[in-house]
Amino acid sequence: MGRTTTNIPMSHRVLSPHHNYDAGHNPCDQQPVQLCGSIFGFLEEEATMSSSENDIYNIQQDIEDEECEDPEDIEDKIKFWETQHQNLHTTLVRTTSLESKIRNITKEVLEEVKMAENVCSCPRSVSGGCRSCLMREICSRLQKSGYDSAICKSRWKNSSDFPSGEHTFLDVIDSSNHKKDSVRVIIELELRGQFEMKKGSEEYNSLVCKLPDLFVGKPERLQTVIKILSNAAKECMKEKKMHLGPWRKRRYMQAKWLRVAERSRVMTTVKPLVEDECST
Ligand SMILES: [Zn+2]
Repeated sequence: MGRTTTNIPMSHRVLSPHHNYDAGHNPCDQQPVQLCGSIFGFLEEEATMSSSENDIYNIQQDIEDEECEDPEDIEDKIKFWETQHQNLHTTLVRTTSLESKIRNITKEVLEEVKMAENVCSCPRSVSGGCRSCLMREICSRLQKSGYDSAICKSRWKNSSDFPSGEHTFLDVIDSSNHKKDSVRVIIELELRGQFEMKKGSEEYNSLVCKLPDLFVGKPERLQTVIKILSNAAKECMKEKKMHLGPWRKRRYMQAKWLRVAERSRVMTTVKPLVEDECST
C-alpha cells in the first residue's frame, strides 16, 4: 500500500503521509516543511505569469513530477505487465490434441455460420445467429463428431462479495481414455468480451486484446486465464485509484464457468427447441 504510480501534483505528494519518496539526490528529496514553503511561493509566482510562461512552467513541472516518481514503482509496473503478457501467452499457446480437435470443429461451425444466410432457429433471428442458436449448432455438430457435448448453465447467488448471476457456455466431456479419468473441455464463444473494461488502462486493454474470442480449453487453463486477467484488473484499478467492480473479481469470474448448475445435451434429432413458427 501507499505506492503511487500516477502523476500527482507536488502539493499532494507533500501532504500524503503514505507516499514513498525516492531517496536519491533530486529536488524532491527535501524536508516537507521546506517544500511547503516553496509551493506557496510557487503559487504566488504562478499568478503573475502570462499563459505562455505558464505552459512552459507546467511542462517543466510535469517533467519534474515524473522524475520524482519512485523509479522502483515504474520498474515494478513495467515488470508486472510484462509478466502478465508472458503468462497469458504461455497459457494460451499450450494445447492438447483433444482441445485442438474440438477447437477445429467449433471454428468450422463458426465459419459456416458466417457464410449462411440464417442460422437462427429462434424467433429472434439474429443475423449470424444469436448466442444460444450458435451454441446449439456447435453442440449438435460436436455430438455428430462423436463428442459428449452439452450446453452448461452456471448460476450463483447474491452474496456479500458479489451480485447473483448466470452464464451459459458449452463443454465436452471426454471419457475415451478408459485408463484415465474423463477430461472436460470448456468452450466459450466470447471470452474477450467477458474481460473488456471501458475504463481499463492502456496496459490492461492491451492484455485483453491478446485474448481470443473463442476459448477452447480445460478448466485448469481457463482458471489460469481468469487468475491473470482478474489480477490485471485489480492492478489496473489500483493504478487508476478506482474501485474494482465485484463482477470483475476472480471469484465472480470463476463462478461463470466453474460452478455448473445444469448440463443439458441438446436433442437435435428429436424435437426442435423452438415453436413451429420457426421451422416454416
Ligand atoms: Zn437464435
